[in-house]
Amino acid sequence: MKREFKFKNGKKLEVRTIYGIGKNYAKHAAEFGGGIPEEPIIFIKPPVSYIENGGVIKLPAMSNNVHHEVELVVVIGKDCANIPASSAREYIAGYAVGIDVTMRDIQFKAKEKGEPWAVAKGFYSSAPISEVIPAEEFGEEIPNFELILKVNNEIIQNSSTKFMERSVATLIEYLSKIFTLEEGDCIFTGTPEGVGRIQSGDKIYAELSGFVTLNVIAE
Ligand code: MG
Repeated sequence: MKREFKFKNGKKLEVRTIYGIGKNYAKHAAEFGGGIPEEPIIFIKPPVSYIENGGVIKLPAMSNNVHHEVELVVVIGKDCANIPASSAREYIAGYAVGIDVTMRDIQFKAKEKGEPWAVAKGFYSSAPISEVIPAEEFGEEIPNFELILKVNNEIIQNSSTKFMERSVATLIEYLSKIFTLEEGDCIFTGTPEGVGRIQSGDKIYAELSGFVTLNVIAE
């Protein structure tokens, strides 16, 4: 199956590696105890976890506590390695809103045992991502966005990417040094506070205010 990011200007990019950042907002880090980690927490979702606007989050039977995490998603536009934060903007193709869908109970068990988060974070349909706003719309700037998430029309998360502990540019520097980044990779940049449970039948709406929206349902 072809998985593509669709840009507002008609451009398309095949979805490659989906990176996630843990605990990048102080208020969210505090929700489950512990502060901002000394080194970024990195996890990876497989491309098959991607779903588009209008898609369905298939709640896995193995979890009784699946959570939404609304996040800014940065899509990479050019292959790169060892990029300093000061030139990170050149490698960004665009910005989207995504939901880092997480099996919280499975993640807690993994944390307890010091095991990886691949199952908790990377299952099928765990990466809903909106249409992509081309980075050119913001010139050379990497802008801040207001993030909103609603469940059944009620606002549950509402914050701004200005509260990120590690900036988009810093994250690109870090990831490009370790993994190298490729065109079509993307980064879930972490969630602000207010994460919560989603259940079968819920209508989930997310937005980068004024720019792009995402509607998915859980079943
Ligand atoms: Mg997250």
